[in-house]
Amino acid sequence: MKYVVIGGVAGGATAAARIRRADEFAEIVILEKGKYISYANCGLPYYIGGVIANRDALFLQTPASFGRRFNVDVRIENEVISIDTNSKSLRVSRFDGSVYTEHYDKLLLSPGATPVIPPLEGIELDGIFTLRNVEDTDRIKNYVNSRRVKNVVVVGAGFIGLEMAENLHHTGATVSIVEMADQIMPVVDFSIASHLHLHLLQKGVQLYLKETVERFEKCGDNIEICFKSGKRIVTEIVILSIGVRPETKLAKEAGLKIGETGGIWVDEYLETSEKNIYAVGDAIEFPHPLTGKPWLNYLANPANRQGRVVADNMVFGNTTQYEGAIGTAIAKVFDMSVASTGLSAKKLKQMEIPYKSSITHSGSHAGYYPHALPLTLKLTYDPISGKLYGGQCVGYDGVDKRIDQIALLIKNNGTIYDLMQVEHAYAPPFSSAKDPVAIAGYVASNIISEAMPVVTWRQILMMDHSTSLLLDVRTPDEYKYGAIEGALNIPVDSLRDRIDELPDNKEIYLYCAIGLRGYLALKILVSHGFKNVKNLSGGYKTYAAAITQRNHTTMLESS
Ligand code: FAD
Repeated sequence: MKYVVIGGVAGGATAAARIRRADEFAEIVILEKGKYISYANCGLPYYIGGVIANRDALFLQTPASFGRRFNVDVRIENEVISIDTNSKSLRVSRFDGSVYTEHYDKLLLSPGATPVIPPLEGIELDGIFTLRNVEDTDRIKNYVNSRRVKNVVVVGAGFIGLEMAENLHHTGATVSIVEMADQIMPVVDFSIASHLHLHLLQKGVQLYLKETVERFEKCGDNIEICFKSGKRIVTEIVILSIGVRPETKLAKEAGLKIGETGGIWVDEYLETSEKNIYAVGDAIEFPHPLTGKPWLNYLANPANRQGRVVADNMVFGNTTQYEGAIGTAIAKVFDMSVASTGLSAKKLKQMEIPYKSSITHSGSHAGYYPHALPLTLKLTYDPISGKLYGGQCVGYDGVDKRIDQIALLIKNNGTIYDLMQVEHAYAPPFSSAKDPVAIAGYVASNIISEAMPVVTWRQILMMDHSTSLLLDVRTPDEYKYGAIEGALNIPVDSLRDRIDELPDNKEIYLYCAIGLRGYLALKILVSHGFKNVKNLSGGYKTYAAAITQRNHTTMLESS
C-alpha cells in the first residue's frame, strides 16, 4: 500500500508517523513544498523575539532524521500542483522547476492555511510581512535585525498578532496594534479582552481599535499607514496578521467538495468527497460539537489529533470517528495569559442561541500565600439546563489549567453544576480550597436559579437613574478611590442599619469590587422586602476595565 501525504508539518507529519506505526511495510511519501518538515510553527514568534534563542530548537525533526526514524520518503521543496483522482496520481513540481508524476493508493491532504493579504494600495511595499512559516520568520528577523527596527505596527489582534506584538516589544521596539474591532483577541468577549487592553497600555503598547487600514504609503524609509478614519501612523515595519484562509486550491481543482465555510469537506472519518483521499488540519471544516455547524479551526491540537485518527482510518479502513473540536486556545500576552474554549457570548448572540453568562474574579491561589494573582473567568451556558457552552479566562497564573478543566467538561456535555464537582489538587501555592472553577460554577448556578439576578456593565451604562438606584456596597475608601458615577455608597456591613435610606419604588443595582459583597447585600435587601434588586456581574473590576478602555479609545479618536 502506498500512502502519499501532502504537507509535512502538524497534521501531515503526525499522520505519516502514525501510519508507519500501524503498518511497518507500507510505502509512505511526504511531499512538502517548503524546506522544512515537522517544525514548531507555534514557536516562530518567540524565535523572532529572541525568547527562543536557538533557531535549531524550532525543528523537531529534519527531513533526514524523520525519514530515517519512520522509514518515510520525505521530499522537501516538492510542491504538488495537481491531483488526478481518476488515475490516482499527482503532478509534483521540484525546486528546480522540473515536474514529475507520483502515484498513490491513499492520499492525505494537510496543506494548512494561507495568510489573508487584502488587495490594499501599497500592500506590496518593502517592510510589510505576514508570518506563517520558517521562511517568513527568517525574513522578518533579518529585516528587524539588519535595520535595527525601533517601531512596529501589528495589524490584526488575534493570537499570532498579539504574540508578535509582545515579541517585537522584547526586541526593544515600540509597538502599536491596529484592530478593526473594538477589542483585541476576537475569540473572547469584550469584558475579558478589556483586561488585556489595560495590560497592553501599561506595557506602553499603543492600541488603535475600531480602525481599518485603507492603504499603505511609502514615506522615506518608512511606511505610512492610512486608516479609513483619516488618521495616519508611520512605522518601519508592518506585521499583517488579519487571519488565514484554508488552503483549498488543490482540492478545489481536483473536484473535491468544498464545504459551506470554505474548508475542504470531510466526513466523520476525515475522508473527503473522493474515496481514498483524506484531509486534516487548518484546511478542513468540521461540525462544531456544540452547534453541529461546520467551522474552521486553525489550531495545532486538532491538527495533531486528526493526524492520528486519519492514519488509523487510512490503514485500517474507516474505523475511528473524529469527535470534532470546540476551539480551546491560549495565548501569552506579556505577563498575562488569555484562554478560551467553546462559544463566547458574542458568538452565541450571533448564532441566536439563548444563553446566560457569569463573570467571576478569584485569586490564582490562596490569598494568604505569597504572590497570588488575579484571575477572571467567564462562563456561558444554557439558561435552562446549565449546559456549558464556553469558558474564557484571563490572568497571570493558572489560566491554562482552569480552561483545560472547563474544556474537558464541555466536550463531555457537562453543565455548570459539574464545575462544582471538579475535584482539584489543592495546597495554598496552587489554588484555594474553593477553586476559581468551582466558584464560577456556584455563581453561574445562583444566576440560573435567580438566587442572584445580575446586570451587566453595558446595562449599567444605559441605566435610567430616575427609575433605578445604583448602590456601591464597598467601603468608603474603595468608593473614594474610584466609583461608578451617580452611585450611592452604603458599605455592606452598614446596610442593615441604613436600609431606610433606600427607596422602595426603584430598581436597585448593586455593586462591589468583584461581586461577592454585592451578592451578600442583595440577599439582605431581598430579605427586607426589596423586590427588584440586581448585582453587577463581575463587579466594579469588570466595569472599570471595560470603561477605562472605552475612554482610552475615545481619547485616541479625538487626538
Ligand atoms: P501546517 O502545519 O501549516 O502545514 C501545512 C504544510 O503544507 C506547510 O508546510 C505547507 O508548505 C505545505 N503545503 C501546502 N500546500 C502544499 C502543496 N501543494 N504541496 C506540498 N506541500 C504543501 N496553534 C495553536 O494551537 N497554538 C499556538 O500557539 C499556535 N501558534 C501559531 C503560531 C504561528 C506563527 C502560526 C503560523 C500558527 C500557529 N498555530 C498555533 C496554528 C498551528 O500551527 C496550525 O493550526 C497547524 O500547524 C495546522 O496544521 P496543518 O498540518 O493543517 O498545517
